[in-house]
Amino acid sequence: MSFFSTRGKSCVTASQAILQGIAPDGGLYVPAMFPAVPPERMTSLIGMSYEERAVVILKRFLEDFDLREIEEAVNAAYSRERFTHPKVAPVRKLDSSTWALELFHGPTLAFKDIALQLLPHLLRLSAWKNGEDREVCILVATSGDTGKAALEGFRDVPGTSCTVFYPLDGVSDVQKLQMVTTGGENTRVIAVHGNFDDAQTGVKELFGSESFREEMSRKGKTLSSANSINLGRLVPQVVYYFSAYADLLEEHAIAPGDPVNFCVPTGNFGNILAGYYARMMGLPIHKLICASNRNNVLTDFFRSGIYSTHRTFFKTISPSMDILVSSNLERLLYEAADRDGELIATWMRQLKECGSYSVGDQRTEWMTDVFWGDCADNNETMREIRSRWEQDHYLFDPHTAVAGHVLREYRKYSGDDSPTVIVSTASPYKFSADVLAALTGDNAGGDPFAASEKLQEITGIPVPEQVKKLRDLPVRHTAECDRDKMGEAVLKAFE
Ligand SMILES: *Cc1c(COP(=O)(O)O)cnc(C)c1O
Repeated sequence: MSFFSTRGKSCVTASQAILQGIAPDGGLYVPAMFPAVPPERMTSLIGMSYEERAVVILKRFLEDFDLREIEEAVNAAYSRERFTHPKVAPVRKLDSSTWALELFHGPTLAFKDIALQLLPHLLRLSAWKNGEDREVCILVATSGDTGKAALEGFRDVPGTSCTVFYPLDGVSDVQKLQMVTTGGENTRVIAVHGNFDDAQTGVKELFGSESFREEMSRKGKTLSSANSINLGRLVPQVVYYFSAYADLLEEHAIAPGDPVNFCVPTGNFGNILAGYYARMMGLPIHKLICASNRNNVLTDFFRSGIYSTHRTFFKTISPSMDILVSSNLERLLYEAADRDGELIATWMRQLKECGSYSVGDQRTEWMTDVFWGDCADNNETMREIRSRWEQDHYLFDPHTAVAGHVLREYRKYSGDDSPTVIVSTASPYKFSADVLAALTGDNAGGDPFAASEKLQEITGIPVPEQVKKLRDLPVRHTAECDRDKMGEAVLKAFE
């Protein structure tokens, strides 16, 4: 199967799309068509392990990878040392029509692990298939979660290295501790004197700099990106939608062919888009419910057909969803625009130049046939954490709680009581102070370790090892640099 750029005519193989990350015309790679998974294949997923299900789905997209390569990559990515739950992405019943799909049992306790544990293997294979024998050097700018997930994914993967830039005073204590204590011989973590935008701009400049690329090439290295627009991050996420459906079949909660809704806490639109791809492949999804926090640009978009970034940016208690430009939405627009790359290029230019674009009533109606958007503010999020705990004895993290609140609103509004899976994107222990405050009104002085212990006392849910051990791990990364010296810092780190 080949992959097209959303903005033009580029046509590449899966391995080329993964290696390039973004298309030369600035577009994102999308599959030429959606490979169908027929109903009998769907029911055959019952009883399979997560790894086996992943192979079934991934091989439909990764046609220039052979079966053994995919199997080896999947088994390495989802091993017991890396994912603490034997089912990798288990489904938990909350009430008679609601389930949680837990995507937080990986090394960094957030859903990004599912893709970022697999991506390094796919990237290494892609380099090899395309005759790229230089070391693939990943550069990441992070506001917190992506950096650590990328570091853990690429740690000690042969032929790759991973360098993360974070804003010195712009990440939480836990996030910083998670990054600077990372092990592995091929990981580098550098604090930038500046904010997240400085770090992000700096990384983009390095990607665009001919002289920097040449210098890295002389050292035997080529640059690549682990950003969520990389196709290699999208396809692993399609798997868990199928897996959740198979688990509901296995529990006899649904019968083959029954429609199910998924409610997804959304930022960059990568997670929920994978659900849309699963639906296009034949998974019986009725609605995809797009849940936003106070940065509700997507809620407004699905209601008006107008995407506008002329709005205030809010810092919320669900920071991984604090985003105004949802990059992966471009892939949905491509389908809504009947795959008209020129139209997409025009909208994206309008977004860049004027901060907004409008897709028109007809296309909006077409999208909202499947998507429903709503949002929750901090208070609603806190209330949801508490009421879900009181009603169902299930503990949401703040991101997942946004989805929980939005699902209640959706049901009130639509009367649709179809079985619904809430996609649970992070462990509550990653945000223990806020979660504790939601339950008790007290945040333990904001100390994540004290808050975690308190939460365990109240809920009986054990604190994950990944959080506990953070307190004692040695700090391994202390490099800092000025915002205009990031290239030098990378070169120095590789001396
Ligand atoms: C990244 C992230 C999200 C948002 O996912 P998108 O794919 O960017 O929409 C939601 N919750 C958590 C915990 C995350 O880390």
